[in-house]
Amino acid sequence: MFQEYFKIFLDGYYGYWNYLSSEILRPSWHNYFWWLVGLSVIVWMVELIFPWRKNQAAIREDFWLDGFYMFFNFFIFSLIVYNSVSNVAVEAFNDFLGLFGIENMVAIQVGNWPVWAQFLLMFVIADFIQWNVHRLLHHNPWLWEFHKVHHSVTQMGFAAHLRYHWMETIVYKSIQYIPLAMIGFGLADFFILHIVTIAIGHLNHANVKITYGPLKYLLNNPVMHLWHHAKNLPVGSHGVNYGISLSLWDYLFGTAYIPNENENEPLGFDHIEEFPKTFWSQITYPWNKKN
Ligand SMILES: [Zn+2]
Ligand SMILES: [Zn+2]
Repeated sequence: MFQEYFKIFLDGYYGYWNYLSSEILRPSWHNYFWWLVGLSVIVWMVELIFPWRKNQAAIREDFWLDGFYMFFNFFIFSLIVYNSVSNVAVEAFNDFLGLFGIENMVAIQVGNWPVWAQFLLMFVIADFIQWNVHRLLHHNPWLWEFHKVHHSVTQMGFAAHLRYHWMETIVYKSIQYIPLAMIGFGLADFFILHIVTIAIGHLNHANVKITYGPLKYLLNNPVMHLWHHAKNLPVGSHGVNYGISLSLWDYLFGTAYIPNENENEPLGFDHIEEFPKTFWSQITYPWNKKN
């Protein structure tokens, strides 16, 4: 059995490596690498042409660090471990279910729904699960130490979107896995959904003042998400505006908080000046931290 797992690990690793190199070498419309580059350039241009904080430098503080996080989290981390390990975890989990005679977990079948409806369902359910996971990252003291990496940005810009500790990938994907596996989607490829969420996430962190008018009660936006990163929160609160793509959950569950539209609101958390400044020291921080 362990040989079998090891083979799945290696196949995942080499499969991903081949996939990544062909992505970079062969741009196409179905290509994460070039979409990420393209969206980043577009949102960056929008920031430079219509800046909210007019005095913010084009190459703001931590721009390159955040750019590195973006590629590390999106590609390198997936390449090194995530894909291979998660293939093994899924196989082991299915083997475990097999012990109880469970062949698959699908509880609801939506495979015969129209494609757009399946996309919409996936978008709304995944976003709601992620909203809950994000709340957990703020409420659980151990997880908060990891999530602090994302909150250690002090000057906001599009690239801060994917500045986060790689443990977050593991936490989000593991918690999401079972509920999503219980829905029998007829589509194997949710590429467009990933691209849409990256675009919304980039904009949420961008130095632009967009609120989408009345759609602000539905869609997360840069003004709302700036307050998620604010240093000064209501007394006793662990956080506000936990929304990922949708702001709806924060309005429904009473965690929406936008007291004003001050673009210079200080960002971060208490004692942020003691938080490490480099990639490696931030990544190892939760384990090295001395209380
Ligand atoms: Zn957060
Ligand atoms: Zn953020």
